[in-house]
Amino acid sequence: MALLSFLGAIQQVTGSCYLIESRDGAKVLLECGMRQGRREEEEGNRAPFPFDPLSLDAVVISHAHIDHSGLLPKLVGAGYRGPIFATDASCELMELMLLDAAQIQEKDTEWENKWRARLGKPPLSPLYTTEDADQALKQRRPQAYAQPIEVAKGVQVTFHDAGHILGSAIVELQVQDHHLTRRLVFSGDLGNTCSPLMHTPTTLDRADLVLLESTYGDRDHRNSDDTLDELAEILQQAHRDGGNVLIPAFAVGRTQDLIYYLGRFYQEGRLPQQAVFLDSPMAIRANAIYSRFQHLFDPDDHAAIADKPARRIEDWLPILRCTPTPDESMAINRVKSGAIIIAGSGMCTGGRIAHHFKHNLWREDCHVVFPGFQARGTPGRAIVDGASTVKMLHQRIAVKAQIHTLGGFSAHAGQSQLLDWVSHFDHHPELYLVHGELEKMQALQQALRERLNWIASIPEPGEQIAI
Ligand SMILES: [Zn+2]
Repeated sequence: MALLSFLGAIQQVTGSCYLIESRDGAKVLLECGMRQGRREEEEGNRAPFPFDPLSLDAVVISHAHIDHSGLLPKLVGAGYRGPIFATDASCELMELMLLDAAQIQEKDTEWENKWRARLGKPPLSPLYTTEDADQALKQRRPQAYAQPIEVAKGVQVTFHDAGHILGSAIVELQVQDHHLTRRLVFSGDLGNTCSPLMHTPTTLDRADLVLLESTYGDRDHRNSDDTLDELAEILQQAHRDGGNVLIPAFAVGRTQDLIYYLGRFYQEGRLPQQAVFLDSPMAIRANAIYSRFQHLFDPDDHAAIADKPARRIEDWLPILRCTPTPDESMAINRVKSGAIIIAGSGMCTGGRIAHHFKHNLWREDCHVVFPGFQARGTPGRAIVDGASTVKMLHQRIAVKAQIHTLGGFSAHAGQSQLLDWVSHFDHHPELYLVHGELEKMQALQQALRERLNWIASIPEPGEQIAI
């Protein structure tokens, strides 16, 4: 029998990693994600892999988010030289994400080593370098959706659209073990059926074993029309108050959704602001990749904004101004009213949003809109939780601006959408819940039992099962 090991994103949401070993000797790593969040969790990224990287035949990645792909350069740094399979669009986005992650690793280590030197401690080396990331990118093997490919002897992989971010996939694996074929389906991150541009996640009906993500296993999201009305109302109020609107957003996915929504508001005459600045070099590069892959968008949502593919998705919003250079970014500081500023980072842990906070957060006429999840311990979370000041760029800034959170923009399926997706499988395959905090998994486990009469297991970190 083949073996499946649950190595990462077990009872938590980051660090996705699973290992499949067939009795015929094929060894495939599914996901190579980075752990993110609290410091102790991030320290876990430094631990050696619990397998020999040189023994792997292939690596398969569901999508480009760092918590699914972010340790690929480390794997390559440890000697892995085999293929890395992902969809075409994921391969392109990975270039953006991995090079950025490597630069962050290098910069953070350089900074930390300055402190360590003064304390007489030996320097640390970065988790990985730009060189490792470059090498990992050379090992990519881009694939189309719905095309089975043999990734290792007796292991066939098919990617299906997961509708989460551009290029995201549900991974179907057929593992041949002597004469027995087992079909394993990994949900990856499943998209919110309400999110614009992306398709509804593909449903599958056959599997022996399913790994199901459970990020929002305990709740349903607000209806997207309500969320959009709420955003439109905030923008109207900000216009009446006269200040700017700041939107901290993630470069890949959320930013493109925002451009789409603001473009629709513009067309409908619901956008009172005079200018929208996109102040994130990474988001601007991600836009270029989204523009190239417009054939992957949901045609209905796309038709609502353009009757044919735009040359660039920026064209959806004629008042959008991209500011890639530091000079252009600094020039925004002179704009005191009537602008929307979208900048990274999404959780306000650094990046250009910090500079815009310095100029706007203390002003009562400004508004801040958080369209995404803010993790515990981040400045974004402190602001959402009502802190009266936050420390940013080595100084304390008063929080006087009006703060809003929009819950309905999640890129993940809510509980009912997860139940609906999994209900398409015939004959109740074995079901394992992954990629979620324990309480969310337990809520989903209970809903599965009550609504579908289906028993799901919650694996322990490092647990190994026969498949
Ligand atoms: Zn994701």
